[in-house]
Amino acid sequence: MEISHIEHIGIAVKNLEKAIDYYEKVLGLHCYAIEEVKDQKVKTAFFKIGETKIELLESTDEDGPIGKFITKKGEGIHHMAFAVKNIDQALDEVEQNGVRLIDRKPRKGAENMDIAFLHPKSTFGVLTEFCENKNSSD
Ligand code: ZN
Repeated sequence: MEISHIEHIGIAVKNLEKAIDYYEKVLGLHCYAIEEVKDQKVKTAFFKIGETKIELLESTDEDGPIGKFITKKGEGIHHMAFAVKNIDQALDEVEQNGVRLIDRKPRKGAENMDIAFLHPKSTFGVLTEFCENKNSSD
């Protein structure tokens, strides 16, 4: 497998607007996109730092994955995403190495990327995402 960089860090927040204010006004970053991912019951806001993004996640539903996370653990870092060259191959490879997958097959995430999650029980407590950017690589 080939991981090129950390694609993004996902951060669960209760209030997207307030969190955006902090990232923009205090840290001086620019929110370049806000997008709802219905499938995941979240609204996301993106910031870019070098090649890496910060993905803020606000739940649109208490029973969604981010809603549940915040109820259980509060706000904070939710997951880390690696950019991979070939997501199908990367998933096969980790599975062969005994890693439990949340997603066997990639699905569409924010920014039209193909994404899949690995189970945190197999990754030392870090919910790990693989992303393949099909928009630019062809
Ligand atoms: Zn993510």
